[in-house]
Amino acid sequence: MEIYVLVKQVPDPEAIIKVKSDSELEIENKYFTNFFDEIAIEAGLKLREKFGGKVTALTVDNKKVDALRRGIAMSADDAIQITDPALEGSDQFAIARALAGYLKDKPFDLILAGRQAMDDDSGIVGPAVAELLGIPHVNTIIGLEIDDPRKEAKVVREVESGKEILSCPLPALFTCQKGLNNPRIPQVMNVMKAMKAQIKKVDIAALGLNAAEVGSQGAKIKVQKYLPPPKRPPVKMIKEDFPQSVKTLVKLLREEAKII
Ligand SMILES: Cc1cc2nc3c(=O)[nH]c(=O)nc-3n(C[C@H](O)[C@H](O)[C@H](O)COP(=O)(O)OP(=O)(O)OC[C@H]3O[C@@H](n4cnc5c(N)ncnc54)[C@H](O)[C@@H]3O)c2cc1C
Repeated sequence: MEIYVLVKQVPDPEAIIKVKSDSELEIENKYFTNFFDEIAIEAGLKLREKFGGKVTALTVDNKKVDALRRGIAMSADDAIQITDPALEGSDQFAIARALAGYLKDKPFDLILAGRQAMDDDSGIVGPAVAELLGIPHVNTIIGLEIDDPRKEAKVVREVESGKEILSCPLPALFTCQKGLNNPRIPQVMNVMKAMKAQIKKVDIAALGLNAAEVGSQGAKIKVQKYLPPPKRPPVKMIKEDFPQSVKTLVKLLREEAKII
């Protein structure tokens, strides 16, 4: 099976993020692979182990390739970075257009993506790629079986108080949800191999796209304003002894915090 996995590098939860201007964030240079994309990589690798074929990790990013290296460390066969100055200012649709531009003339059976990126959280890119390619897609899958001779997929989704089993012909795109598998921890030798691996770079001209179709020109959505979370009020110490301290705590929770 020919499998592509869409991967994104997202800021480490401990990275310091500041609002630089209305529409720009300053993010500390600490990135790792989006959690749901590791699940997608693992799903691809499991299918390769069963049916043979190739798993290729694909990202759009001008600076970072951490998720591609993680994919190789987990034992993906290939890694492609779509990179071009014209991609600056991209929204979800522009990113999807670049990914679909790369995939449109490639032979593939399956595209796997994460259910959402843990930083921007929109869950748009996977379905948008499928729509641009005109292939079926199912989101947030927790089960995946392939009937290779019949070129058909059966997927499981969690729905309110139950599960839903769906089938569709291949090629198709699925976005992967927690519960589908437990991503493998790469072996040290593979991590070292991944650090040195050649990442293939592709620009947008090679995809048959022009600058007006991607980046800020191709974007349909623009960030109007980033707002930092409100500052947390200072910690209040209750210095009284028991039982007066409990009475004061309850009063504060009721009258100030308004949570009881
Ligand atoms: C070069 C570049 C410039 C950008 N400039 C701006 C900007 O100026 N302003 C701004 O607000 N945002 C910018 N972004 C961020 C961009 O808009 C979002 O990262 C993008 O829209 C994806 O949205 P999301 O993170 O919500 O993904 P989701 O839709 O939540 O992601 C779902 C899944 O889609 C796949 N996916 C998502 N992103 C990628 C990717 N890049 N490559 C491969 N697979 C992917 C992954 O499998 C992921 O799990 C830029 C991004 C890039 C790469």
